[in-house]
Amino acid sequence: MAIVRSVPETTDGRRRLALDSPVDRRPIDEIEVAGAAEVADAVAKARAAQRGWAARSAGERAEILRAAVNVLVTRRDEIIDTVHAETGKPRVEALTMEIVPGCDFLNHWSARAPRDLRPRRERLHGYIKPMKKLYINYIPLGVVGVITPWNGPFILSLNPVVQALLAGNAVLLKPSEVTPRSGEWVVRILREAGVPDDVVQVLHGDGETGAALVDADIDKVCFTGSVGTGRKIAAACAQRLLPYTLELGGKDAMIVCADADIERAASGAVYLSMFNTGQVCMSIERVYVVDSVADEFIRRVTEEASAVTYGPGAADMGPLFWDRQLDVVTRHVDDAKAKGAGVVVGGAPAAGNGLYFQPTVVVDATHEMDLMTEETFGPVVSITRVRDEDEAIRLANDCRYGLSGSVFTKDPDKARRIAARLETGTVVHNDASVIYGVAEAPFGGWKDSGVGQVNGTDALRGFTHAQPVLIDRWQVKKESNWYPYTEKSLRQLEAVVRYGFGTRLGRRFMS
Ligand code: NAD
Repeated sequence: MAIVRSVPETTDGRRRLALDSPVDRRPIDEIEVAGAAEVADAVAKARAAQRGWAARSAGERAEILRAAVNVLVTRRDEIIDTVHAETGKPRVEALTMEIVPGCDFLNHWSARAPRDLRPRRERLHGYIKPMKKLYINYIPLGVVGVITPWNGPFILSLNPVVQALLAGNAVLLKPSEVTPRSGEWVVRILREAGVPDDVVQVLHGDGETGAALVDADIDKVCFTGSVGTGRKIAAACAQRLLPYTLELGGKDAMIVCADADIERAASGAVYLSMFNTGQVCMSIERVYVVDSVADEFIRRVTEEASAVTYGPGAADMGPLFWDRQLDVVTRHVDDAKAKGAGVVVGGAPAAGNGLYFQPTVVVDATHEMDLMTEETFGPVVSITRVRDEDEAIRLANDCRYGLSGSVFTKDPDKARRIAARLETGTVVHNDASVIYGVAEAPFGGWKDSGVGQVNGTDALRGFTHAQPVLIDRWQVKKESNWYPYTEKSLRQLEAVVRYGFGTRLGRRFMS
């Protein structure tokens, strides 16, 4: 994280925040908080620069963004150093979660954008078809504010920023105050690749800076973070009718069917609950395992979780990134214990100075426990036995969140049938978090987990205004339904209804 402390203001009265390492609580950095005036100034510069950026073709913009792949490849070790310093996450995890998908997103979006954002012709149907032609332009919105969290401090900033830029917008990134320098790298590599300085800027600070950005003269907010902050942003945007996307928290369920490969399911449950110290919005937070295979599953999970190494240095698992998160995880596990759950592995903060929590396995968890209803965001596998798959689906849906879901079975068709009954934004078969890295998959939450999507063509186009342009084919002097209304126009319209929609042949022509 870092642990964030307020420190004395600068001589010009600006607030400052100090960051301490989550590994050993050593001071590592300080940032100055951007206030409303600085935010407004940055937005004004962005607005002025955006016109020139938008005037370039999508292909030219894509060429610059494609060059950023090389910069990212070249600078990866420095970026990993920063991510590691701020979060303590193992280097392999920084590569898996931040760098590899970062290269892939840059590469993919820069290849896709010129095609997806090109003005296109849409085929018309019915009676309008002989008279008009429809084109759709994708026009940049202007200035986009991107506000991001600390758990994927580089990738969760890079992905929306790249899409917004390719769509022709200027972008102001407000990374989390917990991981500010990791977010700043996004702006550094994009500028190094050739994006003009004022077109992509970083604003450091906490919620005050984020709120000032939402209130500033911007044209869209793209927010990733908690449900509570998401609600505040939605309320602020509503006042101004500002479009927004909200990628919020999750409480993702994993369903282990009787026909699952239990070895894979157990390894998956441990890894997908503990990867990034469990601080992944679509990590596994609850496991529902069918009774007939539960003993074998729990035995294997216990074995695998007991072997997970943690602590400073080369280990499987790093610390929690934020001191507040250590409190949340401890509280949830204590609450589960108090309400009768069994802790078969770990169950407490680790000894020492860092923000480490033991890899933990909890069995007999119920929906009376916060561990099964609130986002825990920690390295805990929480397991509930269920009678059958129907009960698993019912319990999985008994939740205010609906980000993603996961089904372990050897039968892909069954996975699809279960997916159709899950109230979640996405569903993954025999896996989980990987879905965010699949750029073609429209990723977004259902229920309290969000509004809108971050990936897929629609998300890219969501950084534009889709402008339909209806072109007149024949340029006749006057349309038959314009003034003056006559008996003839009445008869023509009646004929459209009677023969166009009142007969099977007509309906076929009209559709
Ligand atoms: P958070 O809501 O506390 O903060 C997120 C960002 O919002 C930070 O940059 C913060 O400074 C800023 N912020 C805080 N108050 C604000 C306000 N009033 N107005 C504007 N900005 C404000 O979230 P967090 O603790 O940083 O992140 C963890 C949460 O993010 C978890 O719930 C996690 O599930 C969620 N998350 C969701 C996704 C997703 O894609 N759905 C991905 C990653 C994380």
